[in-house]
Amino acid sequence: MAKKRVLVLGGGMSGLISAASLPASEFSVTVLEQGQHAGGQIRGWEDKDGDAMETGIHVLFPWYANLVALYERLGQPLPLVPTDGNFYILNGPLKKIVALETSPSLVGTLRGLLAYPMPVLDKLRFLRIIFDALTLTAKGAERYDHWTVSAYLASRKAGPELTAVLEILSVTIQALFGWEASAASFLKFTKHVFGSETQLEASCFLSQPTHRCMVQPLLDAIERNGGEVRLEEPIEKLVLEGDRIVEVKTSQAGYRDFDVVISALPAYVFRKLLPGELQPQFPALCRFQSAYVITLQMHYDRLVLDDGHCYISNRDEVIFDAIIDKTHHWDELQGQGSVLQVLIDNAREYRDAPDQVILDRVNRDLKTFFPKVGEGQLQKYHLQRHAQVFTETRPNYFSGVFRETETFLSNLLVAGDWTSTPYHYGMESAVVAGLRAANLLLKREGLPEQEILDVKFPRFTEMLARWRCG
Ligand SMILES: Cc1cc2nc3c(=O)[nH]c(=O)nc-3n(C[C@H](O)[C@H](O)[C@H](O)COP(=O)(O)OP(=O)(O)OC[C@H]3O[C@@H](n4cnc5c(N)ncnc54)[C@H](O)[C@@H]3O)c2cc1C
Repeated sequence: MAKKRVLVLGGGMSGLISAASLPASEFSVTVLEQGQHAGGQIRGWEDKDGDAMETGIHVLFPWYANLVALYERLGQPLPLVPTDGNFYILNGPLKKIVALETSPSLVGTLRGLLAYPMPVLDKLRFLRIIFDALTLTAKGAERYDHWTVSAYLASRKAGPELTAVLEILSVTIQALFGWEASAASFLKFTKHVFGSETQLEASCFLSQPTHRCMVQPLLDAIERNGGEVRLEEPIEKLVLEGDRIVEVKTSQAGYRDFDVVISALPAYVFRKLLPGELQPQFPALCRFQSAYVITLQMHYDRLVLDDGHCYISNRDEVIFDAIIDKTHHWDELQGQGSVLQVLIDNAREYRDAPDQVILDRVNRDLKTFFPKVGEGQLQKYHLQRHAQVFTETRPNYFSGVFRETETFLSNLLVAGDWTSTPYHYGMESAVVAGLRAANLLLKREGLPEQEILDVKFPRFTEMLARWRCG
């Protein structure tokens, strides 16, 4: 029987995983990617000195069971470096680092919360918010969907200290300030981070750059399957006839030779490629916008951060949202100076700022919290402006949004971290979405599907959630 010809749009994690999961015996797969490097948001490369460059900090959260299992199946387990699980918060006004101790168990997390410097009333309100999150169902999430994080926190009477701590999550996870971010998305994240039965002992970093330990194994698997990844081929248009896509136009060529298309493009890109008359049929996609993120990789001649924690801030008098010293994780950097990865997740206000202005502000704030930075010599830096990076979750993200893998077009499947996965952002979601699309095709061919593990929550929280949401 002739092989099924599959065209995958977008060579990010989700698209590469779909492609890597389709065996050569039955499928012939081509991935079209606009960038110079595959990997999308986890892409990386070597600079002219051979130093690894990448886009972000890349934390694996404790519920990332499918991500870990995938690389085990590929025979290349991820080189995980567990964190101590705590949140280290750079408090701008206090000019102090405050630790919020958490642990994989709910009891441990509550103990950390009690020790956190915050008014007692706020601690009680925090418990209420954790309760809201733990007892959230998919249907329940829709109740909070029209709210912003700030409006939700105000409805729970959170004081300024508590609001400041919690709004950090909306910036680092949703790349939006609290007054813009979806409360449902915030609560979903809180449920997963505080309430899931974890696969990993704590959040983890990787001891190698993502392009080596995450992207390359997928490219190798695609090659073994006889598939192909075509870089620097931006897709410009999808041509339709009836209920089928008949042509995918890139800047280089027109592709007509396929049976199925898997779109693993970000939501805001996917909509623009559809013919005008179809766009109203994907109405909710019109609401999606992309975040504007700046990342800065700074190389110092000596160690300027004493540990490998991820420090986060609420942007109160601090320009960046998160910072880490990769020297403490990456094997290849052992014994060298520091390599800092700095993230400005919600960076629209710096869109027009020159690189030097951003660098100076980052340096000023670094010296406030990490005085040793002042003793180090900055040898080089690489500033990336990601104008089109990931899909923001503003209010109304969930209600009525089309995010299913199968679409009403007979030969189009949709993947990507923004689609219907247990949590709608991050590497785990990209994995689940990629596997789901591949599984549909495997099933149609009567082939065994790849296992997809569900996120597990303790039975008592599930019972409470059912009771609360009827
Ligand atoms: C700075 C940063 C830090 C992050 N930190 C974490 C973290 O700590 N933990 C975590 O779990 N997740 C993190 N993420 C998110 C995580 O990396 C993503 O959720 C995941 O990689 C998304 O994969 P994807 O395949 O769904 O989408 P993408 O990686 O966005 O892939 C989409 C692909 O489509 C391509 N594309 C777009 N338009 C076109 C076009 N017209 N033609 C052809 N190709 C096109 C893009 O170039 C891209 O390669 C971070 C992301 C960023 C940017």
